[in-house]
Amino acid sequence: MKTEWLVVGAGLTGATLAEQIATRRGESVLVVDQRNHVAGNAFDEEDECGITVHRYGPHIFHTNSRVVWDYLSKFTEWHSYRHHVLGSIDGEYVPLPVNLNSIEKLFPKQMSQRYIEKLLNTYCNGERVPILQLMESSDSDIRAFAESVYQRVFEQYSLKQWGVEPEQLLPSVTARVPVSLSRDDGYFQDTYQAIPVGGYTAMVNNMLDHPNIEVMLGAEWEEIQSRVEYKRLVFTGSIDQYFGYKFGRLPYRSIDFKYQTLPISRFQKAGVVNYPNDHDYTRVTEFTQLTGQSSTSTTLLYEYPVQHEPGMNTPCYPMPIRENRSLLRRYKDEAEKISESVLFAGRLGDYMYYNMDQVVARALKLASTL
Ligand code: UDP
Repeated sequence: MKTEWLVVGAGLTGATLAEQIATRRGESVLVVDQRNHVAGNAFDEEDECGITVHRYGPHIFHTNSRVVWDYLSKFTEWHSYRHHVLGSIDGEYVPLPVNLNSIEKLFPKQMSQRYIEKLLNTYCNGERVPILQLMESSDSDIRAFAESVYQRVFEQYSLKQWGVEPEQLLPSVTARVPVSLSRDDGYFQDTYQAIPVGGYTAMVNNMLDHPNIEVMLGAEWEEIQSRVEYKRLVFTGSIDQYFGYKFGRLPYRSIDFKYQTLPISRFQKAGVVNYPNDHDYTRVTEFTQLTGQSSTSTTLLYEYPVQHEPGMNTPCYPMPIRENRSLLRRYKDEAEKISESVLFAGRLGDYMYYNMDQVVARALKLASTL
């Protein structure tokens, strides 16, 4: 078999690159994926009750990029959805990211008023400030506030999620959920926030539906590679796996996903409820709230973070810790040497904690430079 391009991985990165190569360059692409479905970790499907569930954790599309939004809109209609997350903290359901409403729930009245006043005198109305930055404030009230929020919202959640002391994490991790000096209870602030009508899987299938693209599922790329003649390779699997782990393994975090269907139409007060301090799971997702489906039953997802074991479970996140940087550098240097014939991209190929829109933006940019 002959193809111009072999794309390893049928996730958002692979699908975007394949689509761009097929339509803009008119070249043939073979997309292979070891799993028996497309869409990578954004894969969704209907469960036995007809409720659309995300098989690798909740995926809520959000972006400020008009380019990315317009691009994906060619392949799907959207169900407009503003994501809300509540944290179950000390018996209260508190909006996350922590905002002015949350502060009033987390602290007694006088204290919360003092904190809010201090914060609004120090920062701009509506500003989003990373918790680690607040903890370094020169103001002792702000420091005390931040220390309490850190302990109640971030410390145990991060320990569960990553299995390492939160101090080891890159500051950008907790900065994803900054303290928001507003009354807006939305989880994201992006201009575009939505879920594909029909799901991510259907959207990715539409992206791959092109005469120049062939898709092979349940196929190991090493095996295909030896049978297929191709000119260039796009690799969206783990970068260390590509190089046979020759410098050692880069760590990834995986999740045990446990689903439960209940014969009630509504289980919780928001699409996602986080449990920083209780239970072994980090959060509970109620899918009907994300998709807008109405049903007499509801399906929930409980996430139990675990270490990634190659061949045993799915890598969901690169580990965002400093210690990996030198090992990653060595793999990136190897990748650079073969960049004429092999392109690496995506969460696993770049070893970057990307959101979906960043994945698509990166793939579009890469495609435009080919
Ligand atoms: N985080 C936390 N408590 C929360 C929510 C988030 O400590 O209630 C921290 C935690 O380290 C988490 C990170 O912020 O891994 C990023 O959260 P996000 O919701 O963006 O995680 P994702 O949806 O990507 O798993």
